[in-house]
Amino acid sequence: MLQARAEGVLGRIGRAARRAGRTPGEVTLVAVSKTHPAALVREAAAAGLIDFGENRVQEAEGKIAELKPEAPHLRWHLIGHLQPNKARRAARLFDLIHTVDSAALVGRLERICAEDGRAALDVLVQVDLAGEESKGGAPEGELPAVFEALKGCGRVRCRGLMTLPPFFEDAERVRAYFRRLRELRDEWGGRGAFDVAGAGGAGELSMGMSHDFEVAVEEGATLVRVGTSVFGERGGKV
Ligand SMILES: *Cc1c(COP(=O)(O)O)cnc(C)c1O
Repeated sequence: MLQARAEGVLGRIGRAARRAGRTPGEVTLVAVSKTHPAALVREAAAAGLIDFGENRVQEAEGKIAELKPEAPHLRWHLIGHLQPNKARRAARLFDLIHTVDSAALVGRLERICAEDGRAALDVLVQVDLAGEESKGGAPEGELPAVFEALKGCGRVRCRGLMTLPPFFEDAERVRAYFRRLRELRDEWGGRGAFDVAGAGGAGELSMGMSHDFEVAVEEGATLVRVGTSVFGERGGKV
């Protein structure tokens, strides 16, 4: 069941990539496991998935502690807003934090890495393209300050950009947001803003969810965050 669903999503990612003249291997499926128990993540891992997305530090902590010993190869992504007082725990738990959105948070994470003796922490800068403050993200106008802060970091490494666009029933309507994020990635990438040494790429683009990931892949997504289409509907709160 879960295996079939995961394969279905991977197939759709692959077809969307080819439509855009891309290679399916350029796109990583981040299975969003928020609200689902560790047992379901275990099942997804057995089906071959490696990357998992969580939106709350607290909830992720339990799951990661339970699964890490048996599955140390899994990669954990923080995709929800990061409160400053959770930054230390997040830095310890996650392989990639998608939601860095202020110079202050960058500074805090860098300090924490130094205190904890952590050599590197990979992050993405979340961009608010639609002026939806509630969803987090730095407005475009604040990006220079965020990247200035990142330039001063020796440990926090910016790998690319993430966005959470407005919800439209018609996924075609989000295309413009995905395209804009790619333009910003190209602009900042051209200025050397991303630590992509060894990755051979221009910087990651984390965009696309269950209802619009194919559009996101067509527009250049390298990380798609898909929950419902992999795990089914979430029962309780998100
Ligand atoms: C929950 C969530 C997703 C996945 O949503 P689905 O519609 O279930 O695929 C993706 N990104 C973020 C930031 C989320 O919070």
